[in-house]
Amino acid sequence: MSKPAALIIGGGIAGIQAALDIADAGFKAYLVEREPSIGGRMAQLDKTFPTLDCSSCILTPKMVDVGRHSNIELMTYCEVVSVEKEEDIFRARVRQKPRYVDMDRCTGCGLCALACRRKDRILHEFDEGIAKRSSIYVPFPQAVPLKYTIDPEACLYLTRGKCGNTFLCKDACPADAIDFEQQETFVDLEVDAVIIATGFDLMDPTLKPEFGYGVYPEVMTGIQFERLSSASGPTMGKILVNGKEPKDVVFIKCVGSRDPHTGVPYCSRVCCMYTAKHAHLVRDRIPDANITVFYIDVRAFGKGYEEFYDRVKHERVRYRRGEPSEVYRRGDRLVVLAEDTMLGRPVEVEADLVVLATAVVPRGDTADVAELLGLERSPDGFFQEANVHLRPVDTVVEGIYLAGCNQSPKDIPDTVAQAKAAAASAMRVLARRRRQST
Ligand SMILES: Cc1cc2nc3c(=O)[nH]c(=O)nc-3n(C[C@H](O)[C@H](O)[C@H](O)COP(=O)(O)OP(=O)(O)OC[C@H]3O[C@@H](n4cnc5c(N)ncnc54)[C@H](O)[C@@H]3O)c2cc1C
Repeated sequence: MSKPAALIIGGGIAGIQAALDIADAGFKAYLVEREPSIGGRMAQLDKTFPTLDCSSCILTPKMVDVGRHSNIELMTYCEVVSVEKEEDIFRARVRQKPRYVDMDRCTGCGLCALACRRKDRILHEFDEGIAKRSSIYVPFPQAVPLKYTIDPEACLYLTRGKCGNTFLCKDACPADAIDFEQQETFVDLEVDAVIIATGFDLMDPTLKPEFGYGVYPEVMTGIQFERLSSASGPTMGKILVNGKEPKDVVFIKCVGSRDPHTGVPYCSRVCCMYTAKHAHLVRDRIPDANITVFYIDVRAFGKGYEEFYDRVKHERVRYRRGEPSEVYRRGDRLVVLAEDTMLGRPVEVEADLVVLATAVVPRGDTADVAELLGLERSPDGFFQEANVHLRPVDTVVEGIYLAGCNQSPKDIPDTVAQAKAAAASAMRVLARRRRQST
């Protein structure tokens, strides 16, 4: 009789934590991640509020544990394409997308990416488009697994059938790992429980065209700011805009959140705190910068959050209550126009950098995943829990549990707590299976 097993869909911090808890308890965990590496959004963050821990320093050891754990089968660059429930068993089919790189041979040396004809030509998704990569890439240096992947939409050979007179990546690879003949494959799994940990998206900032995102290069999103301020980012942590340190920085909160016009009536729950963190990072790296935060309310509800917000306010950060209505260019600078609701009058604040705290929204494929698994969605579009008070990680399908931001926006402490609860719920099912089979 096979070991009781759980399928975890999504390898962000929620999926990682759930897989580790289940595997450490002696059960089998299949962790399916759509991207070439696990890590999710947390891997993109610079520091984490409220403690200012280095995000990758606390996440990477967990990622490495996942990669090495004898009870975890890590399936990256994979997608679950069907799930059937027969009595208490789930039969899932997983599609392995071709990486065009032999995983057993690739040593992660990176010579292929250096040789690629399209080196530094492709927008880097992990760096949120503020840097470029090659057609063959690893998303970030601490990726797990540290194996290269060829982007089929960027590779000249895969899109046009020709990459000059010779395959530069193939010639450069000392391990002979490049394999353009690779095809997609399918793996069938039988599991006793499923945890959905597919995370969240961020609202498209162009839905608020008044803020000039995509028009002015000096306007960026909070997640882009994370990559800009990260020591592992393209500027190695130097906050630079158009090659210079910005002297006037404006943060705009609630961009899309709590706004019936964008279809996001709820609070995104992390923006108040990550904006305070961003303001702190600007003060730390550019001591003479003028920093303004426009806010509707400040919600600092977690452990140590109010204290962190208080600390940032005393770091010469100007919190102004008011909703900006427009960002426009005047000469070589940007101007943020807002109604200061404390003063009761419009104000203009000049800026070299404007950072938008865009709303946390359900992932674009939430409806498809819900249909695949027979789940329900709440009116806000996130997955519906069975009962928000008493069964917050259960779904309407017995044996399927929710973890992380796919149920609602949340910070890392709440995500990890929910992942542990989902793992504990799944383990009740797995323990029952083990009892039945002995
Ligand atoms: C700008 C910003 C700054 C933040 N800063 C902080 C901070 O300082 N402190 C803090 O506590 N919180 C912070 N947060 C919140 C934090 O990012 C989240 O709490 C955390 O990332 C949630 O993890 P998750 O695993 O639920 O989702 P995600 O991190 O989104 O991970 C989901 C994973 O699932 C994968 N996936 C999705 N769909 C599928 C599918 N169908 N099949 C397979 N895989 C799939 C994705 O590729 C991804 O790897 C911040 C958020 C933002 C936007």
